[in-house]
Amino acid sequence: MTDTIHVALTDGSLELHSDSDAPWAVSSDWLRDNCRCAACRHPGNGQKLYAIVDLPDGLHVVTAVIDPDQGLQVRWSDGHVSSYTPAWLRDHALSDAARSARRRSTTLWTRDLLARLPMADWPALLADPVAELAWLEQYAALGFGLLRQVPCEPGMVAQVGDRLGFVRITNYGRLFDVKSVPNPTNLAYTAVGLGVHSDNPYRHPSPGVQLLHCLESEAPGGDTLLVDGFHAADILRREDPAAFALLCRIPMNFRYADASTELQARQTLISADMDGRVCAVHFNNRSADWLDAPAAEALPWYQAYRAFAHILKRPELELVFRLDPGDCVVMQNDRTLHGRTAFDPGRGRRHLQGCYIDGDAMESRRLVLRRTRNP
Ligand SMILES: [Zn+2]
Repeated sequence: MTDTIHVALTDGSLELHSDSDAPWAVSSDWLRDNCRCAACRHPGNGQKLYAIVDLPDGLHVVTAVIDPDQGLQVRWSDGHVSSYTPAWLRDHALSDAARSARRRSTTLWTRDLLARLPMADWPALLADPVAELAWLEQYAALGFGLLRQVPCEPGMVAQVGDRLGFVRITNYGRLFDVKSVPNPTNLAYTAVGLGVHSDNPYRHPSPGVQLLHCLESEAPGGDTLLVDGFHAADILRREDPAAFALLCRIPMNFRYADASTELQARQTLISADMDGRVCAVHFNNRSADWLDAPAAEALPWYQAYRAFAHILKRPELELVFRLDPGDCVVMQNDRTLHGRTAFDPGRGRRHLQGCYIDGDAMESRRLVLRRTRNP
């Protein structure tokens, strides 16, 4: 977009618009706080050199002129002069259309995604930044990605985690085993199916990304289930807006406890941002503790909870596939809920290893690779 930006200054109120977009009123404090001059921001690192309280009260624009090449030149009531390039003005426009276009594009999915799973070979991704960026873009849009040809060696999942980000060490260690052998001594942890969930909502913050790497999968069953939690939340909002609002507002307590650990966190099952877009889902039946809410809210909250849980079980939302040895699934833990079908541990081994990383490092890698390609 290379629209020309126009400016109008009427009685001290500044308005900007481009040829193709609606005008937006520009607050003086907002504009001045974005001054890029060497007195306001360090020319080397771009960091701000003043505090907001250093700006005078009642600051206003005295003159504002715009030039198609130079951009906007502003003289302020305290004598300061600021300039803003046309590209900066376009990138920071506050019209509804411009704000909406800036939001990260999220692609909601259903079981139909099976035909085009976001997949890459790990060695190719290590060797080629273009392939890596393509995979990271798919991960960002869909909330998960698959890696194939990850060497079938114990501990490899943490190496992948440290390449995509930084492994987060928890009370489970750097990584954990999801393992079953024929005739196990401990039946409790083994072969049952698991409904879709996000991991560790009892942590604050809960893990941003979960990796699961398949080392062995001889046992029949044990297929991976994934559900797009953002899509399920959007369906709840469409079908029952009051239930959606309740799950966004009232948190549930989650808990994990063992002899040396007591982890507790309060999380809303659904979070939405200021524009109403779903930005996080936390759902885990096994670690759900209890609802500490005003008594009158418990009945409608439980109705909403049940409605959301029913949506998460709809077969048309469920992506089902099998992890083979060497496959690693990487999931945005507050979006893509995961589970597994039951399996028969008497007829073969099944062994996965998992670890957690924070989401910001993967997002940073995506943005740096983008920056490198489009300086
Ligand atoms: Zn300045």
